[in-house]
Amino acid sequence: MKQEDAVLRIEELRKDLDKWNTAYNDADQPLVEDHIFDKAYAELVALEAAYPELVTPDSITQRVGGAISTGFTKVTHDSPMLSLGNAFNKEDLEAFDKRIRKLTELPIEYMCELKIDGLAVSLKYENGRFVQGATRGDGRIGEEITANLNTVKSIPRRLAQPLTIEVRGECYMPKTSFAELNRVREENGHEVFANPRNAAAGSLRQLDTKVVAERNLSTFLYSVADLGSLSATTQSGALDELDRLGLTTNHERRICQNVAEIWEFVQEFQEKRPHLDYEIDGIVIKVNSLQAQQEIGYTVKAPRWAIAYKFPAEEAETVVNEIEWTI
Ligand code: NAD
Repeated sequence: MKQEDAVLRIEELRKDLDKWNTAYNDADQPLVEDHIFDKAYAELVALEAAYPELVTPDSITQRVGGAISTGFTKVTHDSPMLSLGNAFNKEDLEAFDKRIRKLTELPIEYMCELKIDGLAVSLKYENGRFVQGATRGDGRIGEEITANLNTVKSIPRRLAQPLTIEVRGECYMPKTSFAELNRVREENGHEVFANPRNAAAGSLRQLDTKVVAERNLSTFLYSVADLGSLSATTQSGALDELDRLGLTTNHERRICQNVAEIWEFVQEFQEKRPHLDYEIDGIVIKVNSLQAQQEIGYTVKAPRWAIAYKFPAEEAETVVNEIEWTI
């Protein structure tokens, strides 16, 4: 493609992606399916890689999330809450593995986790007491939603130890709660939510905590903002420590030594996906050693030591059918 054509195409892609991103993140009303967004995003990434001089700081490839809702107090995150790079096939995972092994000489194994399709949240505990909850927002500044998260039963008010710690994870709406919520909304003539992710995001931004409490949200925690606050040396060890503290982690996780083992895990959960009571949109693969993670580092938008494998679009349709069928 000639540079002048690339300029025009980049402009077009950014315009579409910004519009879709605003509808998805700020209004919780997606205009297109994720795979359409992901395809356009991948095209923009490829064009920006071919013409690095056309990358601008305001490009969607250089920033996280959406705008901050004005109804909530703003919270500045102690360390940024980032996004994840994407993989769509086994070749992308092989390329990721190759990159990792070039970036560090430390021995590498991976932690594979389910990619929960909800909303990223941060939970702060002081001396073991839950004191603040926030959304990811634009990655640097989030919305303070402590009162809403206080209604979520899976979030402990007190940890098993008096630690001062910030944990991060995903707040989601179980499929059964989503189906029931939409049934009641339909009965009452209210607009139904497009999917559990949008329902969870819409619920967390409610200003009335009573409504949030009725929404039956849940959480899976998967990281700690400052790893120094735990004694773990691996991601798997950190998850085990979160469990011991009384925080809910997802137990469908596995240490994998290579891409073949990662691929087995991916396929296993592609099959199990319709039978889980929460939506997942892929698998997150993380370098297990925390020392290796530090060595490998970050881009402006995501850790270099992790990648999100996204399930193919037709799987999403299978899940929708399955939910309808099981209700
Ligand atoms: P992402 O959803 O691809 O990945 C990052 C997020 O994954 C993290 O912030 C975290 O919240 C979540 N996550 C879930 N389980 C995790 C785990 N076990 N470990 C670590 N993180 C985990 O990236 P994003 O920046 O949040 O959103 C971009 C994606 O959102 C796009 O790829 C697209 O699929 C979707 N999107 C869709 C539209 C649309 O119009 N349909 C618009 C914008 C974005």
